[in-house]
Amino acid sequence: MQIKEILTQTPVEQEVTVKGWVRTKRGQAAVTFIAINDGSTINNIQAVVEGNNVNEDTLRLITTGSCVAVTGKLIASLGSGQAVEVKAEKIEVYGSADETFPMQPKRHSMEFLREKAHLRFRTNTFGAIFRIRHALAFAVHKYYNDNGFFYLHTPIITASDAEGAGEMFHVTTFDLKNPPKTEDGEIDYKEDFFGRETSLTVSGQLEGELGALALSKIYTFGPTFRAENSNTTRHLAEFWMIEPEVAFNELEDNMNLAEDFVQYVIKYALENCAEDLAFLEKRLLDEEKNKPQNERSELSLLEKLRFVIDNKFERLTYTEAIEILLRSKPHKEKKFQYPVEWGIDLQSEHERYLVEKHFKKPVILTNYPREIKAFYMKQDEDGKTVRAMDVLFPGIGEIIGGSQREDDYEKLLTRVKEVGIDPENIWWYLETRKFGSAPHSGFGLGFERLVLFVTGMTNIRDVIPFPRAPKTAEF
Ligand code: ATP
Ligand code: MN
Repeated sequence: MQIKEILTQTPVEQEVTVKGWVRTKRGQAAVTFIAINDGSTINNIQAVVEGNNVNEDTLRLITTGSCVAVTGKLIASLGSGQAVEVKAEKIEVYGSADETFPMQPKRHSMEFLREKAHLRFRTNTFGAIFRIRHALAFAVHKYYNDNGFFYLHTPIITASDAEGAGEMFHVTTFDLKNPPKTEDGEIDYKEDFFGRETSLTVSGQLEGELGALALSKIYTFGPTFRAENSNTTRHLAEFWMIEPEVAFNELEDNMNLAEDFVQYVIKYALENCAEDLAFLEKRLLDEEKNKPQNERSELSLLEKLRFVIDNKFERLTYTEAIEILLRSKPHKEKKFQYPVEWGIDLQSEHERYLVEKHFKKPVILTNYPREIKAFYMKQDEDGKTVRAMDVLFPGIGEIIGGSQREDDYEKLLTRVKEVGIDPENIWWYLETRKFGSAPHSGFGLGFERLVLFVTGMTNIRDVIPFPRAPKTAEF
């Protein structure tokens, strides 16, 4: 039985065996208390060693970080804080840990724990984060399955660049010191493994669209790679993205799907991760005690999550958002670092002003200028904007980016050429607009940004087990 289950048992002196890692050991006269955790829950179980049930040599090996199996009777606990405890009769030490074990019971900095990513799972904070991450991933699949979507596995190695931009990791089997060259001195990719230049995918969308234009409702959930050299708290070089794509959905349906989906998964976490969330909420409150009053957040973690599922997201166009920003106090007082005018790509400071100061709730911005958005977005009648939508969250900024897709062959082809993509490279994508084209829409949700929001953590590197970022790929 795992500790999670043992803790729910009614104690009738039944014999149990608890296997797990020792969090703390403390002694009082002839009694030793050992707190054990096996990761199944944030809660530890207490083993009580009395008299000479367990020999001293064994007891000495039991230190913070060691791994043990404790067998004994499950009894009602005399101490406060737990209903049951194990009266140890036999202890087997699987693995000891000396005093150099880094996860000693005290508060460590997040930076320190990142350097110990192989052991940070054994802290309460990271146990909670990764149990919540699991629950959210499960909720994603449950949501789409229950709503008639098919999970489509789009390729990780790709020969196309969905965004028409750089920032891709190359995939090759060439000897980098001596790649085959063509007559004019260029690298000869015809000689490479795939016979063409290939990279790791930045999005499964283009292939996702092909699936949606037959299966009607699909979603992808896979690893995504971007070689962007932005060392921010919201970007990873390797992250997981969820991309639903739906035939016959227009922009408004797309917004409805995004809102319903995010609210569902957050609600799922609230209902299924109550203890872990309560722990993280308390952790945040403790942390905030050290901050000046005006820097503390208005809502606690749980209040923030409930707020997002209880309120409709504010929907407005990019153009309306620019007007609000132009009228805003920080703009007038020149407090924004970046200038505001129609046509700019909104910066994080602008997004956060709209969400955190102006509307005080999640915001969906639509109809962005076409020049700052990807080639595949459906053009509006005005010729200036496209049917894009970004969902903006407090503390995070952009959590979802999506759009209705251009379904007109001629318009799409023209746009592809305008942005400098060779139509030959995505002939298969273009062809879906020749044969039975249909209105369709989709979006991408960065999974780690969702986990960041739900756990209340502040750095995206702390919500993925082994972060990949510039100059970071240990473990
Ligand atoms: P940003 O402007 O924040 O870099 P983006 O416009 O590049 O985002 P999209 O290309 O629309 O993002 O990707 C869809 C979603 O994937 C984003 O809304 C975000 O949640 C997530 N995302 C994008 N880039 C990263 C990254 N480097 N690390 C983690 N998540 C990311
Ligand atoms: Mn980006």
